[in-house]
Amino acid sequence: MVKNVVIVGGGTSGWMTASYLTAAFGDRVTVTLVESPGVPTIGVGEATFSTVRHFFDYLGLDERVWMPECQATYKLGIRFENWRAKGHHFYHPFERLRVVDGFPITDWWLHQGTGDRFDQDCFLIASLCDAKRSPRYLSGQLFEQEFSEGGADGMYRTTLSEQNTQFPYAYHFDAAQLARYLTRYGVDRGVRHVLDDVTEVALDQRGWISHVVTREHGELAGDLFVDCTGFRGMLLNQALGVPFQSYQDTLPNDRAVALRVPVDMAARGIRPCTTATAQDAGWIWTIPLFGRLGTGYVYSSDYCTPDKAEQTLREFVGPAANDLEANHIRMRIGRSAESWVHNCVAVGLSSGFVEPLESTGIFFIQNAVEQLVKHFPNRGWDERLRRAYNRQVAHVMDGVREFLVLHYYAAARADNQYWQDTKTRPVPGELAERIEQWQVKLPDTDSVFPHYHGFESYSYTAMLLGLGGIKLQAPPALELIDGAAAAGELRLVRRQAEELMDKLPSQYDYFAHLRGLP
Ligand code: FAD
Repeated sequence: MVKNVVIVGGGTSGWMTASYLTAAFGDRVTVTLVESPGVPTIGVGEATFSTVRHFFDYLGLDERVWMPECQATYKLGIRFENWRAKGHHFYHPFERLRVVDGFPITDWWLHQGTGDRFDQDCFLIASLCDAKRSPRYLSGQLFEQEFSEGGADGMYRTTLSEQNTQFPYAYHFDAAQLARYLTRYGVDRGVRHVLDDVTEVALDQRGWISHVVTREHGELAGDLFVDCTGFRGMLLNQALGVPFQSYQDTLPNDRAVALRVPVDMAARGIRPCTTATAQDAGWIWTIPLFGRLGTGYVYSSDYCTPDKAEQTLREFVGPAANDLEANHIRMRIGRSAESWVHNCVAVGLSSGFVEPLESTGIFFIQNAVEQLVKHFPNRGWDERLRRAYNRQVAHVMDGVREFLVLHYYAAARADNQYWQDTKTRPVPGELAERIEQWQVKLPDTDSVFPHYHGFESYSYTAMLLGLGGIKLQAPPALELIDGAAAAGELRLVRRQAEELMDKLPSQYDYFAHLRGLP
């Protein structure tokens, strides 16, 4: 068997990989993680995607314990501001659609043609986000009664492929604190942690990695090497020469500038969602943690300079941004042609990345480590396992790319060159045909990107209805069907939302209670 794994890189991807492999294989596999004491991690990546609970559950980590240690908060969806027009907002919630008489409730909403808050009319979560509510009562009970926590009753662990129910939330957390938490988790379970620089990646005569050379700890040999070195892709791209396929022709944002802003959350409240606010050359993320905001401007260097971007971000944040140091980041958008070559697998930014508009970076990592376990090789290094792995992770990233391109293409906003160009730039794959189809029939399982990529058809529907740039029509059949049941269901959503807003504590109160604060 392949028993000796060497991970290079100690950012979120390195420690997620180390802890997951340890949780999966215990001491049957030896894991060594080497990270540079001098090369910093990317320092962002603090909003996640609703599938992330599988990861923490798999590790056996209780969120009541780890969340307070990582300044974590709940995230019930994403709030999009100013994408349709300045002053407008809508939510992409982590909530599947109700279906009435065979038609999703959004079809009925469109048919009814009243109001402009499809999100509040069709989903509970939009109202909870507007009102800054916690998804849990102070007792710990979840607002979503029908959602069964620990779906497997704790008998076995689940992974992404068993996502039968939609988790109603994801997390925001401090990336550095989470990496430290996972470091302790891994080291306690036997991960060998080496703080050193890798100075050379040595190949054998077949071109496979035989060992890496470190500055102070000599050579580290292994069977399988995991490249978690971030955008530099030191093992996969540099040493093995695997080419990188850019997505930049369709997703031009290539830079970001970020700030960590201390905030009095008791006064401000904690909105249970990430906010993406459209700007002149991109968008600004706002991630509320318990005690600070993570914020950053993602933009295209074709339309904006780093100085202008930083100024925009500082103005957006206001006086709280004074004296804070900005972190300027160049982003490599796209994916490695193959993420697994010979005995090297890239996980994290070295494998691929798209701008964080739907918070998918950590989801890519989670997906990659789960797939690595499912395709884990033996000494025969069966090519079929490797090829299947590469296909799956490529589909995930290509699918997310399509979904993100839709965000720009379908946004009504077209008030400057940047936003006008989002309507004329070529779109990838079959997205153009799909959009034509969605104009007469909102997305369903058969009409979205056909491979698993984390997003279901309801997400596409929410974005199309919220962004407002594409003319949509309800199915003509609804003219012929009695709409009384659907009207009742739409009223029920509003009533349930009002009841929940009355009963649920604010997200700040929930975490203050969990931490024993007055
Ligand atoms: P890094 O954090 O760059 O870590 C690289 C590691 O390699 C470091 O430990 C470094 O020391 C080590 N290293 C490098 N060279 C050597 C060497 N020679 N020897 C030894 N060690 C070495 N994802 C989300 O899910 N949600 C978000 O909201 C989100 N926002 C983002 C915003 C921006 C602007 C960017 C750029 C990314 C964002 N991401 C987000 C993605 C997320 O940040 C990354 O997926 C995640 O942090 C993983 O990074 P990484 O571990 O692959 O790389």
